[in-house]
Amino acid sequence: MKEYLMAFDQGTTSSRTIIFNKKGEIVAKAAREFTQYFPEQGWVEHDAEEILATQLATAKEALRLAGLGAEDIAAIGITNQRETTVVWERSTGKPIHKAIVWQCRRTEQDCTRLKQEGLEAVIREKTGLAADPYFSATKLSWLLHHVDGAMARAKAGELLFGTIDTWLIYHLTGGKVHATDPSNAARTMLFNIHTRTWDDDLLKLFEVPRCMLPEVLPTAHTFGQTLPSLFGAPIIIGGVAGDQQAALFGQCCFAAGDVKNTYGTGGFLLMNTGAAPVTSHNGLLTTIGWQIGDKTTYVLEGSVFICGAAIQWLRDGLGIIASSRESAEIAATVPDSGGVYFVPAFVGLGTPYWNAAARGTLCGITRGTTRAHIVRAALDAMALQTVDVVEAMRRDTGLEVPLLRVDGGASVNDLLLQLQSDYAAVSVVRPACIETTAWGAAALAGLTAGIYKDLSDLHALTTTASIFTPNIAPATRKAHLAKWHKAIKAAEIFAESEAF
Ligand code: ADP
Repeated sequence: MKEYLMAFDQGTTSSRTIIFNKKGEIVAKAAREFTQYFPEQGWVEHDAEEILATQLATAKEALRLAGLGAEDIAAIGITNQRETTVVWERSTGKPIHKAIVWQCRRTEQDCTRLKQEGLEAVIREKTGLAADPYFSATKLSWLLHHVDGAMARAKAGELLFGTIDTWLIYHLTGGKVHATDPSNAARTMLFNIHTRTWDDDLLKLFEVPRCMLPEVLPTAHTFGQTLPSLFGAPIIIGGVAGDQQAALFGQCCFAAGDVKNTYGTGGFLLMNTGAAPVTSHNGLLTTIGWQIGDKTTYVLEGSVFICGAAIQWLRDGLGIIASSRESAEIAATVPDSGGVYFVPAFVGLGTPYWNAAARGTLCGITRGTTRAHIVRAALDAMALQTVDVVEAMRRDTGLEVPLLRVDGGASVNDLLLQLQSDYAAVSVVRPACIETTAWGAAALAGLTAGIYKDLSDLHALTTTASIFTPNIAPATRKAHLAKWHKAIKAAEIFAESEAF
Protein backbone atom coordinates (compact mmCIF):
# COMPACT_ATOMS: atom_id res chain seq x y z
CA MET A 1 0.00 0.00 0.00
CA LYS A 2 1.25 3.45 -0.88
CA GLU A 3 0.74 5.09 2.51
CA TYR A 4 3.76 7.33 2.83
CA LEU A 5 4.80 10.71 1.45
CA MET A 6 8.36 11.75 0.77
CA ALA A 7 9.39 15.41 1.01
CA PHE A 8 12.52 16.67 -0.70
CA ASP A 9 13.52 19.76 1.31
CA GLN A 10 16.28 21.28 -0.79
CA GLY A 11 17.70 24.16 1.29
CA THR A 12 20.50 26.68 0.98
CA THR A 13 23.05 24.75 3.01
CA SER A 14 21.72 21.19 2.96
CA SER A 15 19.53 18.77 1.03
CA ARG A 16 17.12 16.86 3.22
CA THR A 17 14.50 14.16 2.78
CA ILE A 18 11.71 13.53 5.26
CA ILE A 19 9.28 10.63 4.97
CA PHE A 20 5.85 11.17 6.57
CA ASN A 21 3.07 8.68 7.23
CA LYS A 22 -0.55 9.54 6.36
CA LYS A 23 -1.07 11.11 9.78
CA GLY A 24 1.69 13.61 9.03
CA GLU A 25 4.12 12.00 11.48
CA ILE A 26 7.82 11.82 10.64
CA VAL A 27 8.96 8.28 9.90
CA ALA A 28 12.54 9.00 8.81
CA LYS A 29 14.78 11.87 7.86
CA ALA A 30 18.19 12.28 6.28
CA ALA A 31 20.30 15.34 5.49
CA ARG A 32 23.54 16.13 3.60
CA GLU A 33 25.33 19.45 3.53
CA PHE A 34 26.86 20.63 0.27
CA THR A 35 29.58 23.05 -0.76
CA GLN A 36 29.10 26.81 -0.67
CA TYR A 37 31.23 28.70 -3.20
CA PHE A 38 32.17 32.34 -2.61
CA PRO A 39 34.18 33.26 -5.74
CA GLU A 40 34.15 36.99 -4.95
CA GLN A 41 33.04 39.31 -2.17
CA GLY A 42 29.22 39.09 -2.01
CA TRP A 43 28.98 36.29 -4.61
CA VAL A 44 27.47 32.91 -3.69
CA GLU A 45 27.31 29.82 -5.92
CA HIS A 46 26.26 26.17 -5.64
CA ASP A 47 27.12 23.17 -7.78
CA ALA A 48 23.73 22.06 -9.13
CA GLU A 49 25.03 18.53 -9.71
CA GLU A 50 26.12 18.29 -6.07
CA ILE A 51 22.64 19.51 -5.04
CA LEU A 52 21.09 16.72 -7.14
CA ALA A 53 23.52 14.09 -5.82
CA THR A 54 22.98 15.05 -2.16
CA GLN A 55 19.21 15.16 -2.65
CA LEU A 56 19.18 11.67 -4.17
CA ALA A 57 21.50 10.33 -1.47
CA THR A 58 19.22 11.60 1.31
CA ALA A 59 16.15 10.11 -0.39
CA LYS A 60 17.81 6.70 -0.54
CA GLU A 61 19.01 7.00 3.05
CA ALA A 62 15.56 8.02 4.33
CA LEU A 63 13.95 5.07 2.55
CA ARG A 64 16.53 2.76 4.08
CA LEU A 65 16.08 4.21 7.59
CA ALA A 66 12.29 3.88 7.28
CA GLY A 67 12.60 0.34 5.95
CA LEU A 68 10.48 1.36 2.97
CA GLY A 69 10.74 1.00 -0.79
CA ALA A 70 9.59 3.16 -3.68
CA GLU A 71 6.40 1.11 -3.89
CA ASP A 72 5.40 2.38 -0.40
CA ILE A 73 5.60 6.06 -1.40
CA ALA A 74 2.37 7.59 -2.72
CA ALA A 75 4.13 10.72 -4.00
CA ILE A 76 7.11 13.02 -3.65
CA GLY A 77 6.70 16.70 -2.72
CA ILE A 78 9.55 19.06 -3.54
CA THR A 79 10.28 22.26 -1.64
CA ASN A 80 13.35 24.29 -2.38
CA GLN A 81 15.54 27.31 -1.78
CA ARG A 82 13.92 29.93 -3.97
CA GLU A 83 15.31 32.18 -6.75
CA THR A 84 18.61 30.26 -7.13
CA THR A 85 19.27 30.07 -10.85
CA VAL A 86 20.57 27.20 -13.00
CA VAL A 87 21.14 27.01 -16.77
CA TRP A 88 21.84 23.63 -18.35
CA GLU A 89 22.20 21.96 -21.73
CA ARG A 90 19.11 20.35 -23.15
CA SER A 91 21.21 17.64 -24.84
CA THR A 92 23.29 16.53 -21.85
CA GLY A 93 21.48 17.89 -18.75
CA LYS A 94 24.83 19.41 -17.66
CA PRO A 95 24.89 22.93 -16.15
CA ILE A 96 26.86 25.51 -18.15
CA HIS A 97 27.96 27.28 -14.94
CA LYS A 98 27.54 27.00 -11.18
CA ALA A 99 24.09 27.92 -9.89
CA ILE A 100 23.81 31.55 -8.78
CA VAL A 101 22.35 31.52 -5.28
CA TRP A 102 19.58 33.84 -4.06
CA GLN A 103 22.05 35.47 -1.63
CA CYS A 104 24.43 36.45 -4.44
CA ARG A 105 24.76 40.24 -4.95
CA ARG A 106 26.70 40.18 -8.26
CA THR A 107 23.89 41.89 -10.15
CA GLU A 108 23.54 44.80 -7.75
CA GLN A 109 24.64 47.30 -10.41
CA ASP A 110 22.14 45.91 -12.92
CA CYS A 111 19.41 46.51 -10.37
CA THR A 112 20.64 50.03 -9.64
CA ARG A 113 20.45 50.68 -13.38
CA LEU A 114 16.87 49.37 -13.51
CA LYS A 115 15.95 51.78 -10.75
CA GLN A 116 17.72 54.70 -12.45
CA GLU A 117 15.85 53.93 -15.67
CA GLY A 118 12.59 54.16 -13.72
CA LEU A 119 11.70 50.50 -14.30
CA GLU A 120 11.12 49.58 -10.67
CA ALA A 121 7.44 50.53 -10.71
CA VAL A 122 6.65 48.37 -13.73
CA ILE A 123 8.56 45.42 -12.26
CA ARG A 124 6.68 45.77 -8.98
CA GLU A 125 3.37 46.12 -10.80
CA LYS A 126 3.86 42.97 -12.89
CA THR A 127 5.76 40.72 -10.47
CA GLY A 128 5.00 42.07 -6.97
CA LEU A 129 8.78 42.14 -6.34
CA ALA A 130 11.38 44.85 -5.77
CA ALA A 131 14.16 45.39 -8.35
CA ASP A 132 16.73 43.47 -6.33
CA PRO A 133 19.53 40.99 -7.12
CA TYR A 134 17.74 38.53 -4.81
CA PHE A 135 15.43 37.41 -7.64
CA SER A 136 16.35 35.19 -10.62
CA ALA A 137 15.97 37.52 -13.64
CA THR A 138 19.22 39.47 -13.35
CA LYS A 139 21.09 36.28 -12.38
CA LEU A 140 19.84 34.52 -15.53
CA SER A 141 20.68 37.55 -17.62
CA TRP A 142 24.19 37.56 -16.10
CA LEU A 143 24.71 33.90 -17.09
CA LEU A 144 23.49 34.52 -20.63
CA HIS A 145 25.84 37.47 -21.03
CA HIS A 146 28.92 36.12 -19.23
CA VAL A 147 29.16 32.46 -20.19
CA ASP A 148 30.77 32.08 -23.61
CA GLY A 149 28.19 31.60 -26.35
CA ALA A 150 25.33 31.18 -23.88
CA MET A 151 22.99 33.77 -25.39
CA ALA A 152 23.28 32.32 -28.91
CA ARG A 153 22.85 28.78 -27.63
CA ALA A 154 19.83 29.78 -25.53
CA LYS A 155 18.23 31.45 -28.56
CA ALA A 156 18.87 28.30 -30.58
CA GLY A 157 16.94 26.28 -27.98
CA GLU A 158 20.00 24.42 -26.70
CA LEU A 159 19.85 25.71 -23.10
CA LEU A 160 17.23 25.44 -20.37
CA PHE A 161 16.63 27.64 -17.33
CA GLY A 162 15.29 26.55 -14.00
CA THR A 163 15.14 27.32 -10.32
CA ILE A 164 16.18 24.39 -8.09
CA ASP A 165 12.71 22.75 -8.20
CA THR A 166 12.87 22.67 -12.00
CA TRP A 167 16.43 21.34 -11.99
CA LEU A 168 15.45 18.48 -9.67
CA ILE A 169 12.24 17.61 -11.56
CA TYR A 170 14.16 17.57 -14.85
CA HIS A 171 16.71 15.07 -13.56
CA LEU A 172 14.29 12.99 -11.49
CA THR A 173 12.22 12.44 -14.66
CA GLY A 174 15.23 11.70 -16.84
CA GLY A 175 14.86 14.97 -18.76
CA LYS A 176 11.22 14.35 -19.67
CA VAL A 177 9.69 17.19 -17.66
CA HIS A 178 10.87 20.81 -17.68
CA ALA A 179 8.44 22.49 -15.31
CA THR A 180 7.98 24.68 -12.25
CA ASP A 181 5.06 25.87 -10.13
CA PRO A 182 3.70 29.41 -9.63
CA SER A 183 5.22 29.83 -6.13
CA ASN A 184 8.67 29.41 -7.66
CA ALA A 185 7.92 31.14 -10.97
CA ALA A 186 6.71 34.19 -9.03
CA ARG A 187 10.22 34.64 -7.59
CA THR A 188 12.00 34.85 -10.93
CA MET A 189 10.93 38.46 -11.72
CA LEU A 190 9.96 37.16 -15.19
CA PHE A 191 6.48 35.94 -14.22
CA ASN A 192 3.42 38.16 -14.30
CA ILE A 193 1.54 37.32 -11.09
CA HIS A 194 -1.73 38.77 -12.44
CA THR A 195 -1.88 36.91 -15.79
CA ARG A 196 0.13 34.01 -14.30
CA THR A 197 2.27 33.70 -17.42
CA TRP A 198 5.85 34.50 -18.37
CA ASP A 199 5.76 38.19 -19.24
CA ASP A 200 6.92 39.20 -22.73
CA ASP A 201 7.96 42.71 -21.65
CA LEU A 202 10.11 41.33 -18.84
CA LEU A 203 11.63 38.64 -21.09
CA LYS A 204 12.59 41.44 -23.47
CA LEU A 205 13.93 43.65 -20.69
CA PHE A 206 16.18 40.89 -19.32
CA GLU A 207 16.91 39.43 -22.81
CA VAL A 208 15.67 35.97 -21.88
CA PRO A 209 14.63 33.69 -24.79
CA ARG A 210 11.20 32.22 -24.03
CA CYS A 211 12.24 28.77 -25.31
CA MET A 212 14.48 28.22 -22.28
CA LEU A 213 11.70 28.71 -19.71
CA PRO A 214 9.92 25.85 -17.93
CA GLU A 215 6.22 25.13 -18.20
CA VAL A 216 4.32 26.47 -15.16
CA LEU A 217 2.08 23.77 -13.67
CA PRO A 218 -0.15 23.95 -10.55
CA THR A 219 1.54 23.53 -7.15
CA ALA A 220 -0.39 20.32 -6.37
CA HIS A 221 -0.16 18.42 -9.65
CA THR A 222 1.32 15.27 -11.16
CA PHE A 223 4.53 16.74 -12.54
CA GLY A 224 5.83 13.37 -13.72
CA GLN A 225 7.40 10.16 -12.45
CA THR A 226 10.88 9.50 -11.19
CA LEU A 227 13.07 7.28 -13.38
CA PRO A 228 12.59 3.65 -12.21
CA SER A 229 16.36 3.26 -11.90
CA LEU A 230 16.61 5.93 -9.17
CA PHE A 231 14.63 4.30 -6.36
CA GLY A 232 13.82 0.85 -7.79
CA ALA A 233 10.36 1.82 -9.04
CA PRO A 234 8.85 5.04 -10.34
CA ILE A 235 7.37 7.52 -7.84
CA ILE A 236 4.99 10.33 -8.77
CA ILE A 237 6.14 13.91 -8.15
CA GLY A 238 2.89 15.34 -6.81
CA GLY A 239 3.70 18.74 -5.32
CA VAL A 240 6.24 21.54 -5.79
CA ALA A 241 6.53 24.76 -3.78
CA GLY A 242 9.15 27.32 -2.77
CA ASP A 243 10.28 26.88 0.85
CA GLN A 244 8.43 29.79 2.48
CA GLN A 245 5.17 29.08 0.67
CA ALA A 246 5.47 25.38 1.55
CA ALA A 247 5.81 26.37 5.23
CA LEU A 248 2.70 28.57 4.94
CA PHE A 249 0.83 25.61 3.44
CA GLY A 250 2.27 23.21 6.02
CA GLN A 251 0.99 25.51 8.77
CA CYS A 252 -2.52 25.20 7.27
CA CYS A 253 -2.66 28.95 6.60
CA PHE A 254 -5.39 28.34 4.03
CA ALA A 255 -7.61 31.35 4.78
CA ALA A 256 -7.05 35.01 3.93
CA GLY A 257 -5.46 36.71 6.94
CA ASP A 258 -3.61 33.59 8.15
CA VAL A 259 0.05 34.40 8.93
CA LYS A 260 3.13 32.33 9.69
CA ASN A 261 6.62 33.33 10.75
CA THR A 262 9.70 31.16 10.36
CA TYR A 263 12.45 31.98 12.87
CA GLY A 264 15.56 30.64 11.18
CA THR A 265 18.83 32.37 10.32
CA GLY A 266 16.55 35.12 8.99
CA GLY A 267 12.85 35.54 9.56
CA PHE A 268 10.15 35.14 6.93
CA LEU A 269 6.59 36.25 7.51
CA LEU A 270 3.95 35.29 4.97
CA MET A 271 0.30 36.22 5.01
CA ASN A 272 -2.32 34.49 2.90
CA THR A 273 -4.30 37.28 1.18
CA GLY A 274 -6.72 35.02 -0.66
CA ALA A 275 -7.60 35.01 -4.35
CA ALA A 276 -6.44 38.57 -5.08
CA PRO A 277 -2.93 40.03 -4.92
CA VAL A 278 -2.56 42.91 -2.44
CA THR A 279 -0.25 45.74 -3.42
CA SER A 280 1.99 46.76 -0.55
CA HIS A 281 2.64 50.35 0.48
CA ASN A 282 4.76 49.27 3.43
CA GLY A 283 7.72 47.46 1.91
CA LEU A 284 6.23 43.96 1.64
CA LEU A 285 6.46 41.78 -1.45
CA THR A 286 3.38 40.46 -3.22
CA THR A 287 3.76 36.91 -4.43
CA ILE A 288 1.97 33.65 -5.15
CA GLY A 289 1.40 31.14 -2.36
CA TRP A 290 0.20 28.21 -4.44
CA GLN A 291 -2.12 27.14 -7.21
CA ILE A 292 -4.45 24.21 -6.60
CA GLY A 293 -6.63 23.32 -9.58
CA ASP A 294 -7.25 26.67 -11.26
CA LYS A 295 -7.40 28.53 -7.93
CA THR A 296 -4.43 30.76 -7.16
CA THR A 297 -3.72 31.95 -3.61
CA TYR A 298 -1.69 35.12 -3.16
CA VAL A 299 0.49 36.14 -0.25
CA LEU A 300 2.26 39.14 1.22
CA GLU A 301 5.81 38.46 2.34
CA GLY A 302 8.16 40.33 4.64
CA SER A 303 11.75 39.42 5.45
CA VAL A 304 13.93 40.02 8.47
CA PHE A 305 17.54 39.41 7.40
CA ILE A 306 19.03 38.59 10.81
CA CYS A 307 16.84 36.67 13.21
CA GLY A 308 18.32 33.51 14.80
CA ALA A 309 21.66 34.69 13.37
CA ALA A 310 21.71 37.32 16.15
CA ILE A 311 21.90 34.45 18.65
CA GLN A 312 24.62 32.79 16.56
CA TRP A 313 26.58 36.04 16.80
CA LEU A 314 26.26 36.09 20.60
CA ARG A 315 27.66 32.56 20.55
CA ASP A 316 30.33 32.74 17.85
CA GLY A 317 31.11 36.46 17.58
CA LEU A 318 30.86 37.70 21.17
CA GLY A 319 31.24 34.33 22.86
CA ILE A 320 28.83 35.29 25.68
CA ILE A 321 26.67 32.16 25.35
CA ALA A 322 27.80 28.59 24.81
CA SER A 323 24.81 27.45 22.74
CA SER A 324 21.68 28.87 21.10
CA ARG A 325 19.61 26.91 23.57
CA GLU A 326 21.30 28.67 26.50
CA SER A 327 19.95 32.04 25.31
CA ALA A 328 16.56 31.41 26.95
CA GLU A 329 18.04 30.40 30.32
CA ILE A 330 20.43 33.34 30.49
CA ALA A 331 17.82 35.88 29.36
CA ALA A 332 15.40 34.54 31.96
CA THR A 333 17.79 35.53 34.78
CA VAL A 334 16.80 39.20 34.29
CA PRO A 335 13.25 40.63 34.26
CA ASP A 336 13.94 42.68 31.10
CA SER A 337 16.79 44.04 29.00
CA GLY A 338 17.50 46.83 31.50
CA GLY A 339 16.85 49.47 28.87
CA VAL A 340 19.20 47.91 26.30
CA TYR A 341 17.97 47.74 22.68
CA PHE A 342 19.84 45.75 20.06
CA VAL A 343 19.24 46.30 16.34
CA PRO A 344 20.94 43.33 14.61
CA ALA A 345 21.19 45.08 11.24
CA PHE A 346 24.43 43.24 10.36
CA VAL A 347 23.61 43.23 6.65
CA GLY A 348 21.18 46.15 6.54
CA LEU A 349 17.51 46.28 7.43
CA GLY A 350 14.77 44.44 5.53
CA THR A 351 11.01 44.97 5.71
CA PRO A 352 9.74 47.63 6.23
CA TYR A 353 12.91 49.78 6.31
CA TRP A 354 14.90 48.46 3.32
CA ASN A 355 18.05 50.20 4.42
CA ALA A 356 21.04 48.36 2.94
CA ALA A 357 23.57 50.66 4.66
CA ALA A 358 22.32 50.19 8.25
CA ARG A 359 24.51 48.15 10.60
CA GLY A 360 24.15 46.51 14.02
CA THR A 361 23.56 48.90 16.91
CA LEU A 362 23.40 48.47 20.71
CA CYS A 363 21.66 51.31 22.57
CA GLY A 364 21.13 52.07 26.25
CA ILE A 365 24.16 50.36 27.77
CA THR A 366 25.04 51.36 31.37
CA ARG A 367 27.54 50.15 33.99
CA GLY A 368 24.79 47.85 35.22
CA THR A 369 24.38 46.09 31.87
CA THR A 370 25.26 42.39 31.98
CA ARG A 371 25.49 39.72 29.31
CA ALA A 372 22.01 38.59 30.40
CA HIS A 373 20.61 41.98 29.40
CA ILE A 374 22.29 41.76 26.01
CA VAL A 375 21.03 38.22 25.41
CA ARG A 376 17.55 39.35 26.41
CA ALA A 377 17.86 42.37 24.07
CA ALA A 378 18.72 39.98 21.21
CA LEU A 379 15.60 37.90 21.86
CA ASP A 380 13.59 41.14 22.16
CA ALA A 381 14.98 42.19 18.76
CA MET A 382 13.94 38.93 17.10
CA ALA A 383 10.40 39.59 18.30
CA LEU A 384 10.40 43.35 17.69
CA GLN A 385 11.63 43.05 14.09
CA THR A 386 8.75 40.66 13.52
CA VAL A 387 6.32 43.19 15.02
CA ASP A 388 7.39 45.71 12.38
CA VAL A 389 6.50 43.23 9.62
CA VAL A 390 3.20 42.27 11.25
CA GLU A 391 2.34 45.98 11.49
CA ALA A 392 3.16 46.45 7.80
CA MET A 393 0.78 43.57 7.01
CA ARG A 394 -1.91 45.09 9.21
CA ARG A 395 -1.55 48.43 7.43
CA ASP A 396 -1.52 46.92 3.92
CA THR A 397 -4.56 44.69 4.41
CA GLY A 398 -6.57 46.42 7.13
CA LEU A 399 -6.73 43.02 8.83
CA GLU A 400 -6.08 42.63 12.55
CA VAL A 401 -3.77 39.59 12.55
CA PRO A 402 -4.89 38.08 15.86
CA LEU A 403 -2.83 34.91 15.45
CA LEU A 404 0.70 34.08 14.34
CA ARG A 405 1.75 30.50 13.53
CA VAL A 406 5.44 29.91 14.07
CA ASP A 407 8.15 27.46 13.04
CA GLY A 408 11.90 27.38 12.32
CA GLY A 409 14.85 26.47 14.55
CA ALA A 410 14.46 29.33 17.04
CA SER A 411 10.73 28.69 17.55
CA VAL A 412 11.67 26.13 20.22
CA ASN A 413 12.46 29.11 22.47
CA ASP A 414 9.43 29.68 24.74
CA LEU A 415 10.67 33.02 26.03
CA LEU A 416 11.02 34.32 22.47
CA LEU A 417 7.47 33.27 21.63
CA GLN A 418 6.08 34.89 24.80
CA LEU A 419 7.91 38.13 23.92
CA GLN A 420 6.50 37.86 20.40
CA SER A 421 3.00 37.54 21.72
CA ASP A 422 3.49 40.47 24.10
CA TYR A 423 5.05 42.87 21.60
CA ALA A 424 2.84 42.09 18.61
CA ALA A 425 -0.35 41.66 20.65
CA VAL A 426 -1.05 38.35 18.91
CA SER A 427 -1.61 34.79 20.00
CA VAL A 428 1.42 32.77 18.95
CA VAL A 429 0.79 29.16 17.98
CA ARG A 430 3.53 26.56 17.66
CA PRO A 431 2.60 23.24 16.04
CA ALA A 432 3.73 19.89 17.43
CA CYS A 433 5.86 19.34 14.31
CA ILE A 434 8.00 22.36 13.37
CA GLU A 435 9.14 20.67 10.10
CA THR A 436 6.39 22.66 8.39
CA THR A 437 8.31 23.32 5.15
CA ALA A 438 8.81 19.63 4.39
CA TRP A 439 5.33 18.82 5.62
CA GLY A 440 3.84 21.47 3.32
CA ALA A 441 5.48 19.83 0.30
CA ALA A 442 4.37 16.37 1.46
CA ALA A 443 0.82 17.61 2.06
CA LEU A 444 0.63 19.10 -1.45
CA ALA A 445 1.84 15.79 -2.89
CA GLY A 446 -0.68 13.95 -0.70
CA LEU A 447 -3.51 16.01 -2.17
CA THR A 448 -2.41 15.07 -5.67
CA ALA A 449 -2.04 11.40 -4.77
CA GLY A 450 -5.52 11.33 -3.21
CA ILE A 451 -4.23 10.53 0.30
CA TYR A 452 -6.09 13.67 1.38
CA LYS A 453 -9.31 14.62 -0.32
CA ASP A 454 -9.19 18.33 0.47
CA LEU A 455 -7.74 20.99 2.77
CA SER A 456 -10.06 20.01 5.62
CA ASP A 457 -8.29 16.64 5.81
CA LEU A 458 -5.03 18.53 6.36
CA HIS A 459 -6.59 20.78 9.01
CA ALA A 460 -7.68 17.67 10.87
CA LEU A 461 -4.08 16.46 11.07
CA THR A 462 -2.49 19.52 12.68
CA THR A 463 -1.80 19.41 16.37
CA THR A 464 -0.95 22.55 18.29
CA ALA A 465 1.79 22.03 20.85
CA SER A 466 1.77 25.44 22.53
CA ILE A 467 -0.11 28.72 22.50
CA PHE A 468 1.33 31.96 23.88
CA THR A 469 -1.01 34.86 24.64
CA PRO A 470 -0.22 38.53 25.36
CA ASN A 471 0.72 39.13 28.97
CA ILE A 472 1.81 42.77 29.21
CA ALA A 473 -0.11 46.01 29.65
CA PRO A 474 -0.77 47.86 26.37
CA ALA A 475 1.11 50.90 27.74
CA THR A 476 4.23 48.79 28.41
CA ARG A 477 4.01 47.37 24.90
CA LYS A 478 3.74 50.86 23.46
CA ALA A 479 6.72 52.07 25.45
CA HIS A 480 8.85 49.12 24.25
CA LEU A 481 7.92 49.77 20.62
CA ALA A 482 8.70 53.47 20.95
CA LYS A 483 12.18 52.70 22.36
CA TRP A 484 12.76 50.06 19.66
CA HIS A 485 11.92 52.52 16.91
CA LYS A 486 14.33 55.04 18.43
CA ALA A 487 17.04 52.36 18.31
CA ILE A 488 16.20 51.70 14.63
CA LYS A 489 16.50 55.46 14.01
CA ALA A 490 19.90 55.42 15.70
CA ALA A 491 21.07 52.63 13.37
CA GLU A 492 19.76 54.54 10.37
CA ILE A 493 21.34 57.83 11.42
CA PHE A 494 24.69 56.11 11.91
CA ALA A 495 24.37 54.66 8.38
CA GLU A 496 23.66 58.13 6.98
CA SER A 497 26.91 59.49 8.42
CA GLU A 498 28.75 57.11 6.03
CA ALA A 499 27.84 59.51 3.23
CA PHE A 500 29.94 62.36 4.68
P1 ADP B 1 17.98 27.91 8.80
O1 ADP B 1 17.05 26.86 8.26
O2 ADP B 1 17.65 29.31 8.39
O3 ADP B 1 19.43 27.59 8.65
P2 ADP B 1 16.98 26.97 11.37
O4 ADP B 1 15.52 27.01 11.16
O5 ADP B 1 17.69 25.67 11.49
O6 ADP B 1 17.74 27.95 10.38
O7 ADP B 1 17.25 27.80 12.74
C1 ADP B 1 18.55 28.02 13.19
C2 ADP B 1 18.64 29.39 13.85
O8 ADP B 1 17.86 29.39 15.05
C3 ADP B 1 20.05 29.73 14.23
O9 ADP B 1 20.32 31.05 13.80
C4 ADP B 1 20.09 29.63 15.76
O10 ADP B 1 20.93 30.61 16.32
C5 ADP B 1 18.64 29.88 16.14
N1 ADP B 1 18.27 29.12 17.33
C6 ADP B 1 18.30 27.78 17.48
N2 ADP B 1 17.88 27.42 18.72
C7 ADP B 1 17.55 28.58 19.35
C8 ADP B 1 17.05 28.89 20.66
N3 ADP B 1 16.76 27.95 21.55
N4 ADP B 1 16.84 30.19 20.94
C9 ADP B 1 17.10 31.16 20.04
N5 ADP B 1 17.57 30.92 18.81
C10 ADP B 1 17.80 29.65 18.48
